[in-house]
Amino acid sequence: MAFLPLLSTLVLATVSLAASILDAAAYSSASVIRRDVCIVGGGSSGTYSAIRLHDSGKTVAVVESRDRMGGHTNTYADPVTNATTDIGVVVFHNISIVKDYFARFDIPLTAAFTASNTLEVISNIDYRSGKVVAGVKFNDPSTALAAYALQLAKYPYLEAGFDLPQPVPTDLLLPFGDFVKKYALQDAVPTIFNFAQGIGDLLAQPSLYVLKLFGSQTLHDVITAGFLTTAHKDNSQLYRSAKAVLGQDVFLNTRVLATDRKGKYTKVLVQTPQGKKLIVAKKLIVAIPPKINNLGGFDLDASEKELFSQFKNAAYYTGILRHTGIPDNALIPNVEANSLYNLPQLPAIYDIDPTGIPGLLNVKFGSPYAIPDDEVRKQILAAVGRLGAAGSFNTSSAAELATFASHVPFELTVPKEAIAAGFYEKLYGLQGQRKTYYTGAAFHVHDSGLLWQFTEGLLPEILKDL
Ligand SMILES: Cc1cc2nc3c(=O)[nH]c(=O)nc-3n(C[C@H](O)[C@H](O)[C@H](O)COP(=O)(O)OP(=O)(O)OC[C@H]3O[C@@H](n4cnc5c(N)ncnc54)[C@H](O)[C@@H]3O)c2cc1C
Repeated sequence: MAFLPLLSTLVLATVSLAASILDAAAYSSASVIRRDVCIVGGGSSGTYSAIRLHDSGKTVAVVESRDRMGGHTNTYADPVTNATTDIGVVVFHNISIVKDYFARFDIPLTAAFTASNTLEVISNIDYRSGKVVAGVKFNDPSTALAAYALQLAKYPYLEAGFDLPQPVPTDLLLPFGDFVKKYALQDAVPTIFNFAQGIGDLLAQPSLYVLKLFGSQTLHDVITAGFLTTAHKDNSQLYRSAKAVLGQDVFLNTRVLATDRKGKYTKVLVQTPQGKKLIVAKKLIVAIPPKINNLGGFDLDASEKELFSQFKNAAYYTGILRHTGIPDNALIPNVEANSLYNLPQLPAIYDIDPTGIPGLLNVKFGSPYAIPDDEVRKQILAAVGRLGAAGSFNTSSAAELATFASHVPFELTVPKEAIAAGFYEKLYGLQGQRKTYYTGAAFHVHDSGLLWQFTEGLLPEILKDL
């Protein structure tokens, strides 16, 4: 066939092009950055990795696609009052790794959620109609939460990662709705729903993911009101401080164009605002959501492709509302008339709640799948309008989103069949392969403190031979 030689010539040309763009000789010495470790992703886990390696005397380069570090940590500064409020990560566990990390930067922590006698919880509004739902009654969750704690105690390994036994306990594979019925946890569902925001369809997810997202440490902190937060209500301070320590080693607005992990050194070609740079490192840490479409440019092998292509994700959005007319002290969860446990069917608003800043309210929105940002914005403002039209609040037509953040992709999951077939054993088998280490929520859980612990656990292996 006449076209075959042409095709093989093209393939060869592509291969040699890939080889040449990753050849240090092709770049000026200023464009070649030699480091012990290259870290892709400057969010919670990537920044923690970078600081710990830096403090261990190692050199790092952090590749971050956005214009700031911090990932899901997102702080809104009100131009009127100059006050700040967190619309991403809000609270941290009261555990030593959290306290040590913040102390590293001299950032004071304080107890979160201190009792407020001014807060008004209005837990009977259906955002679909904007109306008060008659007859909604939530029982005291204490007994059901104690029963949930007994279930969690069966799986202590979930607090450390996805080191699941084989066979995977069948209860972990049950849709969470069935797990609730099996162990009579009904009265705990509204609390779990609130703390497992972003998980998508709570009752349909394999229980594994719920038991991780609303795990023992979180339950402990809920019961004892033990969470911490930054004293200045500005969790982004952590990332500004980390950036100041890491300086020029952080490449913001930068994306990976190509990687080569075959040789003695890992090569990562990146596009920075100042042009292309070739990072040549002894090891690579991947601290981004490992979905195939987010790993463009990576030289993935067959097993990496096979595993990462199985991830699905849910979607989570947050924003700050202003000029709503809703009282500043209102906490309004979305309560659906006639649904199981009165849970709202997603996509929908989770809740509107106070920020502590006059005139500003926090809004959170979840969906089992990604929705265009503009559509989410529209749905949020339409729901606020319905609260007014139904007479539940004296809302204003001037209501607007002062800021909006998409936290997509959120909560990467695989189907129960894949979990049962050893997906996470294979995923963890990638650690250290081709000098590449993985951290971040897909490898553990959306929980900052627990992710820092997980990352800490990887460090001895990463530091070996550096
Ligand atoms: C609204 C919200 C509220 C939360 N509240 C809390 C809370 O109160 N307490 C708590 O402990 N946890 C909370 N979490 C969960 C916690 O924030 C996450 O678990 C944590 O941020 C996950 O860390 P990560 O390192 O996996 O990802 P991220 O922190 O998201 O970091 C990933 C980073 O990689 C970057 N990136 C992505 N793709 C690429 C790419 N291809 N190339 C380069 N860079 C890339 C991203 O821009 C991001 O900076 C919350 C999450 C959300 C969304």
